[in-house]
Amino acid sequence: MSGPGQPTARKPRFPASAVPAPGPTPRGHVLRPQRPVQQAAQDAARRAAPSGVGLDSDAVRLRMVQRLQAGGIRCEPVLQSMSQVLRHLFVDSALAAQAYEDTSLPIGLGQTISKPSVVARMLSLLHEGSRARELGHLGRAMEIGTGCGYQAALLCLLARQVVSIERLEPLHEQARQRLAPWRAQRLMLIWGDGMLGHGPSAPYDSIISAAGGDDIPAAWMEQLAVGGRLVAPVQSDAHGGHMLLVVDRHAEGWARTLHEPVHFVPLKSGAQ
Ligand code: SAH
Repeated sequence: MSGPGQPTARKPRFPASAVPAPGPTPRGHVLRPQRPVQQAAQDAARRAAPSGVGLDSDAVRLRMVQRLQAGGIRCEPVLQSMSQVLRHLFVDSALAAQAYEDTSLPIGLGQTISKPSVVARMLSLLHEGSRARELGHLGRAMEIGTGCGYQAALLCLLARQVVSIERLEPLHEQARQRLAPWRAQRLMLIWGDGMLGHGPSAPYDSIISAAGGDDIPAAWMEQLAVGGRLVAPVQSDAHGGHMLLVVDRHAEGWARTLHEPVHFVPLKSGAQ
């Protein structure tokens, strides 16, 4: 029971306007409230929850979100999505207790789930793209590096359509199972070389990469819509490591802006 003046941890405190737009309404009369979709995904995910660790409580995610806010993340839809997706269900149950700390964790095959603060930063940058600001959401999004599927789940709350590509088949298969409730709605998971993007669903309003290469593959630049934004780690010779790169596509061409140093797994070509 919460007494007067005590915060109620049951519901994340964000304005309703921060909830991402519902699915496409071609003729304006098929309204699909977001909530049942989220509920279905969370209920399905909960069935596999490790028991007795208290991680199902909204309070643990609220604390993570408060730390992200304290660290400078201001994008309400991103904070909202991170308060809703159960990150501990995307990592091995032995690591679940660390799932809400600001740390990357191993997900198998030498890969990692990115730190929450880096995920939040990249999604916030994506949300500031001109097309995303116009739409109020990420529109049609492509992710390179599905990994465990955590960021793909966040993208499902932030975008209308999501294409996510993973080159390692076991990770792709695992994500297919974890994200089954989303796949029916708006998510397409692809096993393949993300350096080629995914032409059939292009152009994309938003592109995000969870792996860093020497430069941005030409296919991503081509598949980015005019007005769209791409956020990816890229090797910087000056810095000697990865830096976050934002690319905005305008009618006249592409504008690149380098941000802070980051550390990511390498972008590799070919699928295995
Ligand atoms: N978004 C993920 C992060 C996973 S780490 C998550 O939330 O867990 C990055 C992933 O990128 C790894 O799984 C790696 O296998 C994948 N990757 C690297 N190069 C790739 C490529 N060319 N195409 C698709 N996936 C790639």
